[in-house]
Formats: sequence, structure tokens, C-alpha cells
Amino acid sequence: MAVERFIQGDRNARMKLDKAPWGPEKLLKLGGTHISWLVIALLTGGAWVFYFADAPTLARQIVSGTAPFAAYATIALLTFTTYALAGLMREQVCTYMCPWPRIQSAMLDEDSFIVTYKAWRGEPRGSVKTAATGTSGAGTSGDCVDCMACVNVCPTGIDIRNGPQLECITCALCIDACNDTMEKIGRPLDLIGYTTLKRDVAESRGQPLTAMWKVVLRPRVLLYLALWSAIGLFMLVVLAGRERMDISVSQDRNPIYVMMSNGDIRNGFTVKLLNKEARPRDFVLTVEGLPGATIVDPLRPDKPAAQVMIRARPDGVETQKIQVRAPASAVTAENMDISFVIRPKDGDGRVETDTRFTGPVHSGSAS
Ligand code: SF4
Ligand code: SF4
Repeated sequence: MAVERFIQGDRNARMKLDKAPWGPEKLLKLGGTHISWLVIALLTGGAWVFYFADAPTLARQIVSGTAPFAAYATIALLTFTTYALAGLMREQVCTYMCPWPRIQSAMLDEDSFIVTYKAWRGEPRGSVKTAATGTSGAGTSGDCVDCMACVNVCPTGIDIRNGPQLECITCALCIDACNDTMEKIGRPLDLIGYTTLKRDVAESRGQPLTAMWKVVLRPRVLLYLALWSAIGLFMLVVLAGRERMDISVSQDRNPIYVMMSNGDIRNGFTVKLLNKEARPRDFVLTVEGLPGATIVDPLRPDKPAAQVMIRARPDGVETQKIQVRAPASAVTAENMDISFVIRPKDGDGRVETDTRFTGPVHSGSAS
């Protein structure tokens, strides 16, 4: 809406543009709006694709045109849905698709603060001229001058003067719009304001209002607070306890194994190590399930070891080619189940992933 306002102007200008015949100005303004929406949709919706992959690698692949088809298709889908939902459908999403209004209306009661039009003050409506002859809610004309400012600013397009409605997202834009009008015609503010149904009735009858703390500190409010806090706390605990590292391994297929001159068998693997902390970390990588296996770092091929150290950059994925070498006596089947395990050098915890180590076909083994 901000883009639309910036390019096409305020509501009146937009309505004028809608009615105007097609010409260069209309084409430019409408085209500019839709192109801007698509760019925003690409940067917000389409960019979600980076959530599912190693973002820098995928960005490079996208720019060079070598990304998988699924990445382009997902970007197109997310961009289009963002453009359609936020640009074209807008309040229809709030009204028909969003579950929040239903949850909200189930949680409200007559003591809940909601955006309310004070009908006892505003009615009967009249023009600014007739309003000048009345007094605030008690004369021939109420405070509402039917300027429609509250309806025009409402993002869901409702008229709050018809009472509380499901579509209201409590954005309070109508409160500000109406207060502007009240200021201009010299009437008290808050003809539309935050109040409870009970307080509204009491105010209309001139009765004393319930103390604010009694409205806020009700068992219902405290129960909701406790429930939402418990959910928030649970999410925080899960977040704090999540693993801050991950590993994935894929076996090199060509060649699938190499027989060394001394009879040892060697397999190649690509290890991807994910560091989820905002600092560089060292991880110890080991292999389990293959007695006597050693890991060969291609950068130090002369020093096979039971474990290798891998340094991972902050919030990044470290990709490393390694080789695992095992004595022939340990490779008792064509496919051996093995696990790659990482442990942080300076802390506790371990994460492992399973894969296979391939050797020559053994007589009697399943192939
Ligand atoms: S609070 Fe927002 S959504 Fe609700 S009626 Fe007012 S402008 Fe419309
Ligand atoms: S903005 Fe206020 S005065 Fe204008 S129509 Fe709405 S309620 Fe009435």
C-alpha cells in the first residue's frame, strides 16, 4: 500500500487514475506499481528459498544459471504467491484466510479493549454544518459528520460504525483518522477509540467507569497470559537446546572404491559441516563402525589419522572432501554401514550421520 501511495498518490488520486482512460501516465504508474510489487515479492517471498539451502552457494548458482530447477520453481512460486496475496488480494487474506480473527473473537469478552465507535456520541450522523448546530451526543446531531475518513483508511474496508466486526485487525487507523476530523470540527477526540463494551455502556449512561486495573487483571487475562507465556517459554527452551552443529555426508561414486597397493580399501566422501553459531568453530570428525579405519585429508594425504579437525566459519557450511581408508580385513561386506561423527573441539555434544563404505564384492555377500 505504501508503494501504491508513493507511485499513484492518495486514495482520491488513485480513484481518479482508475477511472482515467489508458494513456502513458496510467500505464507508467500502474506498471511501476506492479513491477515494484514483484520486486518486493521476489526479495521477501522468493528469497525464502535460501532458508532451505546453503544461501551463498545457492545465490552463486542462481546468478550463474546453474541452480537446480527446483530452486527456480520455488522462487517463482513464492514470488507469485507473495505478489498475489499481498498485492492483489490484501484484505481478502485477512478476512477469509487468516485464522487470527477467529481466534481473537473467541478470546474477547465484554471487558476486552477493542476499537469501538461510540454510537451514543456519534449518532445521529450529519454534515459538518448540522453538526455545528448540535452538541456532543445530546443535541439534534451527533459528533459523526459522516466524512467516511474511518472507512477510507480501513485496510480491511469495513465501517467500524456498524459495530465490532470479525474483519477488524485492530490496527487503529480509523481512530487516528476520526481524531483528525474531530480536531478539525472542534469536537472531543476519541469518537472512535479503545474501550470495552461495558465501559462504553457505562460512559454513555454517565456512570462511573470500572478501575483500569480491575479490567486488566481479570482471571481470563491472567489465564491467557499464563498460557501464552508457557508456549513462549517452551519455544525458548527448544531454541536454546537445539543442536548448534550438523553434518551431512555423500559418498563419491566415481570411483566407488579404490584398492590400495597394500590391500587397504579407500572410499571418497564429501562432508558438509554446518556451524550454527556466530563464531568460527573447530570440529573433530571421526568415523565409527569400521575397525581400523583412518581418515585422509586430501591436503595432508601422507598423514591418515583416526580423526581430523575441521574449522567451520560462523553461521556457515564447510564443505570438505575426505577419504576413509580401511584394512581389507575390516571390510567384510560389499556395503558396510558406517557413521560420521562430529564433536565440537571446545564443548560437549555430538552429531552423527549414517552412510555406507563400499568394498569389493565378497563371495556370498548380497550385491
Ligand atoms: S481498527 Fe483498523 S481494521 Fe479495525 S475498523 Fe479500524 S481501521 Fe479498520
Ligand atoms: S471518521 Fe469519525 S466523523 Fe468521520 S465518518 Fe468516521 S466516525 Fe464519523
